[in-house]
Amino acid sequence: MSTSDLLLLGIVLFVLIDFSAGMVINYLNERSKNQPISAEGAEIFNPEEYAKSMAYGTAKYRFEMLTTLISTVTILAAIILGGFSWLDAQLRDRLNNNLLITVVFIAILILISTIANLPAGYYSTFVIEEKFGFNKSTKKLFFQDAIKQLLISLALGLVLLYAVAWIYQELQSQFWIIAWALFAAFSLFMFIFGTRIFLPMFNKLKPLPEGELRTAVEDYCQKQGFPLSKLYEMDASKRSTKLNAFFSGMGKVKIIGLYDTLIEKLSTQETVAVLAHEVGHYKRKHVYTMFAFSNLQTLIIFSLMGWLLGNPNLSKALGSDTPSFHLSMLAFFLLFSPVSTLLGLINNSFSRRNEYQADQYSIDTYPGAREHMYNALKKLSRESLSNLNPHPVYVAVHYSHPPILDRLANLHK
Ligand SMILES: [Zn+2]
Repeated sequence: MSTSDLLLLGIVLFVLIDFSAGMVINYLNERSKNQPISAEGAEIFNPEEYAKSMAYGTAKYRFEMLTTLISTVTILAAIILGGFSWLDAQLRDRLNNNLLITVVFIAILILISTIANLPAGYYSTFVIEEKFGFNKSTKKLFFQDAIKQLLISLALGLVLLYAVAWIYQELQSQFWIIAWALFAAFSLFMFIFGTRIFLPMFNKLKPLPEGELRTAVEDYCQKQGFPLSKLYEMDASKRSTKLNAFFSGMGKVKIIGLYDTLIEKLSTQETVAVLAHEVGHYKRKHVYTMFAFSNLQTLIIFSLMGWLLGNPNLSKALGSDTPSFHLSMLAFFLLFSPVSTLLGLINNSFSRRNEYQADQYSIDTYPGAREHMYNALKKLSRESLSNLNPHPVYVAVHYSHPPILDRLANLHK
């Protein structure tokens, strides 16, 4: 068996393992979910709401199994039947610039995957979310969002891809350190300005209006030395009834956003407790550790790429005798999937630990926060029909936040 055949076998095997493991974990989670309600759970849901939360989980579970099956079959077919090398050959016939071929190749893949994902997004929003009373989005807004997201990913993704491919063309195996530095600079820019620049294209951000809440927030922020000018209310209610809050940016350009749905459903004190949690993410330096960790990950990826990308067998595994940056990269990422799963596990476990620390920060800095946070989290889970009994393996793989009952227990310990 030739090296390229062996690589092809590895790719197919990884796709299949990824798929089967995903299915098994989803199934375990679905089984773990359907349990009689516990005493702690009964503080969140009445029996009717609890039944609804389980039905919501099942609807999402079934739909995810179906979409994963379809996408896996499509990718396997493209790999085995040589769809990627066919596209590459078509472009090679028409274009004579390698960088241009790479950019157009990836642009076509982004376009195809966006269009292919539209029906699933549509069904999820207008059938599942609608049925359970979450959806507020209109069809017009849905398609506007999709078009904007596509244009942004094409604009940013293709410019970055062009730069990395050009560096690779010039430096070959030495390219990885320069390409990584460029990538790190880009992600620093996105970490700081990303939300500032792109969020307003989707949502309106406005300062908190005068009133009881603003006074309470001003009071808290002043004590913490957190500039109030960085605090915004966001019109999340135009898409969904679910509540949330977020932080973004670093240094002088940091912001905290509170969903209007959160402000509407939580009491003043509960809202301040949630805000204190978000401030905690800054004060505990989570922004910097997350940034450092994500750059460490890309450093690992780029150094492996520097080592492997020059091997013509990567392109050959996908069916092309002419090595190219884009086919080699595609084969690389397909082979890289076990490592990316591992990195995802580490990322999520970090993130869940950070959530406990931010909760603790809220307790330490806002009087009464233990109770207010407790009540706020209960409302948050009720309003989003959270799964009370996720399977531990599913949590490890998919949860960036601790399961709700663990988080409540931690607040009351
Ligand atoms: Zn948090």
